[in-house]
Amino acid sequence: MKCYLPVTTELPAAGRRLLRIAEILGADCVELRLPAGSSDPIGDIENGVAEQEACIAICPTVAKEWLGIASFPSSLANYLSQRFKFLLIHGLDSDPVSCDMLLKLSQGTVSGVTQAKKNASLYQVAKDDVTGAFGGLEVSPVNSRDHVFLMHEGQTLVKPIISIGGKPLFARLTASAAQIFLLSGITENHLDLEGDLDARPVAEYFPQLLPIAMFIRHAFKDECWHPSDVISASLIIDDPPLWKRYGYVNYERISAFMDQYRFHMTMAFIPYYWRRYSTSTVRLFRERPDRFSICFHGNDHTDAEMAATDPRVLAYCLTTAQARMERFTARTGIRCGKVMAFPQGAFSRSALAALKEHNFIGAVNWGHIPTGGQRPALTLANVLQPSIRYEDGCPFFLRRPVKRVRPEDIAMDAFVGRPILLQEHHELFRDPTALFETVTLINRMLPEVTWRDLQSSLEMAYLVRKSTDSTVSIRPCALALQIKNTESNSIRYDVEWPDQNANVSLGSGPQEYAGVGHDDAHLHSFTLAPGEVGSASQPREARAAVGPVFRPSFARIIKIGVRRTLAELRDNYLSRSPVAISVVKSMRNILFSPHHAP
Ligand SMILES: [Zn+2]
Repeated sequence: MKCYLPVTTELPAAGRRLLRIAEILGADCVELRLPAGSSDPIGDIENGVAEQEACIAICPTVAKEWLGIASFPSSLANYLSQRFKFLLIHGLDSDPVSCDMLLKLSQGTVSGVTQAKKNASLYQVAKDDVTGAFGGLEVSPVNSRDHVFLMHEGQTLVKPIISIGGKPLFARLTASAAQIFLLSGITENHLDLEGDLDARPVAEYFPQLLPIAMFIRHAFKDECWHPSDVISASLIIDDPPLWKRYGYVNYERISAFMDQYRFHMTMAFIPYYWRRYSTSTVRLFRERPDRFSICFHGNDHTDAEMAATDPRVLAYCLTTAQARMERFTARTGIRCGKVMAFPQGAFSRSALAALKEHNFIGAVNWGHIPTGGQRPALTLANVLQPSIRYEDGCPFFLRRPVKRVRPEDIAMDAFVGRPILLQEHHELFRDPTALFETVTLINRMLPEVTWRDLQSSLEMAYLVRKSTDSTVSIRPCALALQIKNTESNSIRYDVEWPDQNANVSLGSGPQEYAGVGHDDAHLHSFTLAPGEVGSASQPREARAAVGPVFRPSFARIIKIGVRRTLAELRDNYLSRSPVAISVVKSMRNILFSPHHAP
């Protein structure tokens, strides 16, 4: 499949955005140069489009320049719907060419475009094969400057996909052999993608990105990047060690909750506690790996350690954390997932580089902005891809506080192939009603979801695209991959890897390095028999020289001890008393800088 994007002189903003989205989704989308003021528009298309099966995405701004008139000939509308399998008519507004295009392509059903009703508050998403987990949802708030289509009462030809106040802004119809999608002009302020991704409601970028991405996914099917069939979820609880109880965390009780509501809990474990654990809790974790797991949460959890920029400090921190957890594993038999949950949500770019050097497969955080240095702009790729990667560092995934998860967040994660990652502290279990509601919502919206440990969730997050020769391309989203061939025939895979070297252990068939592919990724080829499982990981890097070994001072060791003791005191004994909590807070503010909350 190929998508053509007509252009006369320069692509308008909507066209550039479409091209970028197609590129992120790995769809073959190219510009189609057309003469301005053409006298033979059908001839222009005949000459420019060679493929039998193709789609076209055109907006009225380009149509106006191309045709040089303020109307859209019926003969051209008929020709387009016979020549192309899929049409996207986007950027439609109330100008005469827009209205004429709509009228001709919709066989007189859509008569124009108008501004959405001022008091409308929701985007209504229809259940349709393009809308996936968004189908049936109502997404808010609406941008009151969005435009919707005016349609004849009682018509059944045009099917709304996304509507405001019952009037569609994105709709589809079938004409001749073509599936035609209509998308209204989107107000420019939707284009402003700045600020933290986590803080932005899906509704803000919903109408500018999703209809186009839905169209491309629908037209290209498995010829563009799409998530694997595996949908993973994990609840990550920060801080509690594996004691019998910690604050409101009572592992026996939570185990029963997990069986009842069906979820998995990954403890973001502070390696400082490697020596102090309850044998009964350890037993529980070993007996129920389907319900309990652990991952890294800093090292000492003091002074926003993952926000450090000095490579010596980071190397010390990660080396110590790993050594502690290796000893913990040797004693308890519990493996610590090679994923870092950043303490206090703070991380530096240097920390991402250090994590990769220390063989971590990924990180999780609730914001995408590193501390220090230049603030990265939020890009379309950040929104549309499962993980975020800066320079050559470790990729990281977003996680959300349980109480802030909305249905559209779940649908968005599923749409882009992001594992559903929830994050909280022990206080969540004071009254777990909100947790049960969120877990129930996830399990209802995504019946195929599997709750699993964080490391496996990241390893199984990958994108898939079928190549023309029936090879399947795989784009891992973390620095490790786990893949199972669930088909009844053997499949040849090409795995994209950022480095030429990868520890590829993929099935029993021949394996080879297949050269450089898209985006300079290195391709490793292998075959999996039906039911066979393969894996790939980053080879352990030769650690960069970090200068003299960093050792914390005696004063710092004392400070870490005091800090942890205060946190334990707060979570275990004082968390039920507001007065006592404020006393501890004051003490902490006197002893430590206020922004370093445990
Ligand atoms: Zn923490």
